[in-house]
Amino acid sequence: LTILGLESSCDDTAAAVVRARIENGAPVGPGRILSSVVVGQNALHAAFGGVVPEIAARAHAERLDLCVERALAEAGLALRDMDAVAATAGPGLIGGVLSGVMCAKGLAMGAGLPLVGVNHLEGHALTPRLSDGLPYPYLMLLASGGHCQLLAVRGPGAYERLGGTIDDAPGEAFDKAAKLLGLGYPGGPEIEREAAAGDPSRFALPRPLLDRPGCDMSFSGLKTALRRARDLLVERQGGLTAADRADLCAAFQAACAEVLAEKTRRALAQERARAGAAPALAVAGGVAANRTLRAALEQAARDEGGAFFAPPPALCTDNAAMIAWAGAERFARGARDGLDLAARPRWPLDRSAAPMLGSGK
Ligand code: ATP
Ligand code: FE
Repeated sequence: LTILGLESSCDDTAAAVVRARIENGAPVGPGRILSSVVVGQNALHAAFGGVVPEIAARAHAERLDLCVERALAEAGLALRDMDAVAATAGPGLIGGVLSGVMCAKGLAMGAGLPLVGVNHLEGHALTPRLSDGLPYPYLMLLASGGHCQLLAVRGPGAYERLGGTIDDAPGEAFDKAAKLLGLGYPGGPEIEREAAAGDPSRFALPRPLLDRPGCDMSFSGLKTALRRARDLLVERQGGLTAADRADLCAAFQAACAEVLAEKTRRALAQERARAGAAPALAVAGGVAANRTLRAALEQAARDEGGAFFAPPPALCTDNAAMIAWAGAERFARGARDGLDLAARPRWPLDRSAAPMLGSGK
């Protein structure tokens, strides 16, 4: 099964061609990524310290055709060689999602190909199947700029959200923290670089919600605590030294990693109690690139007796290969969408993605 995937729900325009081996009517990973083109928009949004929806939508609309052309050329295939076209139909910034859905409809109609709408979160959730052929069931921690959730992936289309952030996403928190400290955008990599030279114990930042049961998380208080620590230093010494900045970054990164890892460990323990054995843990989302976090998560998986999977960073951040793969999983099980496929700004995974058949609505 060879499938073209499109992604345009946030600030990356992407197209990819993925080939999946089908056994007993279901794709078996790992998949073969024949091409994966991602055109980022960081330069367009950097001056604003975050994604500007109108700018993003216009850029997607301008770039999608070229991304598709490049993805097909790099795969050495033509549109007629595809078995289906898959596109992110939500959740995300509506202008961007609309651009991708309309482009996919045009391609599908023009070439007479079936169309499959994909939930962007399902794309992330199924990435370890694409990258490592991970069998069901497993636990997925999705930590990105726009999302933070712990998902029990129990089988095709069977997801349960065990917890997530009640305010900011962790990537968003990293981005805001970096802005507070005068660092660039996106903030995650900047903070990680600064933190390498810092002492995580000099500033005592809180560990939000760790004292409460359950798997929910909170990151906005952490950002407020960081601002307070920064303001105190500025008041006392008139500014921040390089060491201050490094120590603040290290403290912030340590607090985020500890909260994420501990809540993930709880979710693993919960699933182990349910199923009798700890599920494998897999991560996705841009924040999963953070090495301090990865180490803490690996330790949590080890503590609970489960394996740990971290797909390559290029598959952890937004890309179209994961959309093509998720499309293949749905398509192989019979899912088809009509030309009335709608773009959805909100689309929770555990309620609406459950039926694998029929339209994604
Ligand atoms: P979505 O939420 O829809 O997946 P997004 O573009 O916001 O979209 P990603 O591309 O998955 O999310 O990830 C980007 C986020 O990851 C940014 O907030 C960035 O700061 C964060 N990030 C990237 N690298 C690191 C890192 N090394 N440490 C911490 N955070 C990081
Ligand atoms: Fe994403």
